[in-house]
Amino acid sequence: MPNQIWMVGLLVVATSSWAQAIEPVNAVALDRALSRIDPERIAADIQYISCDEMGGRDTPSEGLRLTARFLRNRLQRLGLAPGNGRQYLHPYSLEVRAFEREGTTAELVTEDESFHLQYGHDYYFWTRTFRSTALEGEIVFCDDLDSLPEVSGKWVLLERTAFSEWVAVGRLHREGAVGLIIQPPPESDLTEVKQRMTASVDRMLGGRVRSSGSQREEGGDPFGLVYLSATGAKKLGTLAAESSSEPWSHGQALGVRLREFRAVSEEPKFVTVENVCGFWEGADPELKHEVILVSAHFDHVGRAAGGQVFNGADDNASGTAGLLAMAEALTLYGPLRRSVMFVWVSGEEKGLLGSAAWVADPSLPDGYRAVADINLDMIARNDPDEILVTPTPDGPYADEHNEIVRLAMELAEVEGFTNVGSADKYYQRSDQYNFAKLGIPVMFLFTGVHVDYHQVTDTLEKLDVDKASRIMRLVLRVLDQLDAAPLDS
Ligand SMILES: [Zn+2]
Repeated sequence: MPNQIWMVGLLVVATSSWAQAIEPVNAVALDRALSRIDPERIAADIQYISCDEMGGRDTPSEGLRLTARFLRNRLQRLGLAPGNGRQYLHPYSLEVRAFEREGTTAELVTEDESFHLQYGHDYYFWTRTFRSTALEGEIVFCDDLDSLPEVSGKWVLLERTAFSEWVAVGRLHREGAVGLIIQPPPESDLTEVKQRMTASVDRMLGGRVRSSGSQREEGGDPFGLVYLSATGAKKLGTLAAESSSEPWSHGQALGVRLREFRAVSEEPKFVTVENVCGFWEGADPELKHEVILVSAHFDHVGRAAGGQVFNGADDNASGTAGLLAMAEALTLYGPLRRSVMFVWVSGEEKGLLGSAAWVADPSLPDGYRAVADINLDMIARNDPDEILVTPTPDGPYADEHNEIVRLAMELAEVEGFTNVGSADKYYQRSDQYNFAKLGIPVMFLFTGVHVDYHQVTDTLEKLDVDKASRIMRLVLRVLDQLDAAPLDS
């Protein structure tokens, strides 16, 4: 009973360290389970989940499907039950808007000639706005962003040198330019250009996903960002040579217009992706119908434009592997009074899509309901003794503060976390935000962002896997305590 535990705790605190304040509910079972949570095993799982061959676990992708099947296989071997009693994989549908090869094209035009540019051969483009557009304007060459000529209604041509294209885009958009054309400098590495083109074309033709039936409109003015390949640059050079001679000077009009067309079909396509759910049934005939969710997203952001894999070792192979370690530990703990559902969600990086789908259609056996969620995202970086948690008792989500968070904050020191900080500003940024929409208490455990966050350098050797294992031990201690506590839902 929680009050009793609390009283015992107070008595112990008076004479001993805070760390010993809470007695385990099932001490033997807890010790047995804790001994199974091992940094080496977690590291081995992170290594597999974050390997290059998974391709960055984009939603949707082969690597994502493969990771889901790896998780399912492990659940089967451990003897956890399928989420809803029938299947481990929880499918859901996403809407895809993609550019179509037909209708996505460009041409260079002079007074008396025009050259067709083939998408994916002569040029490629980048955009976040998946809708049909037609952009046209004359091309003016620039080599200095700080003293721009009149660019309104024009395409600006820059060589790919030491400027940031995003700074250039912002500047030119504000000045009313139609778009930016980037061409490789003559001595550039064309292998890299080809790789970037392939990745960009894959991404644009693969499309952008969002929840099915999403009403969100595509906003913003279209602004063109076109990259020429060596062949595209050559076509432009040939046409421009008829009215201007190289080297082009800053602000020079080339006497060539670019017309660029992008086509997105009116009807979206749909793709099925999956969450993965493993069920550990409770022992209490009544309480077992209350299900504690333990969640982590297993997707990541795919590949960079240059083709390099975003391994996402911390984000979130760490939490994904942490959940596997927890599932294994629970098989040694034995059943709790309540049931536990491990939920690995996809689509997190695309806007918490997998958890939204789970909440809309929970994968639970009939007669069972979710009563809490403990979510883990990025649990293996930064100071070894620091952990971040939300909702905290004093922050903007104080109304959501709950018994689970209280227990975790109190037990943190037992696992060496002498510094418990706030993750309140991330409350809405990971999947706990969606699980809270079920009207249940949630807790998010996190170890903070870092220089490798969403970079291709988020790799295994930078992780503190001991820290990840201590976080999972902490979660296990919380579950053990919850076995003697009521959960308001
Ligand atoms: Zn994440």
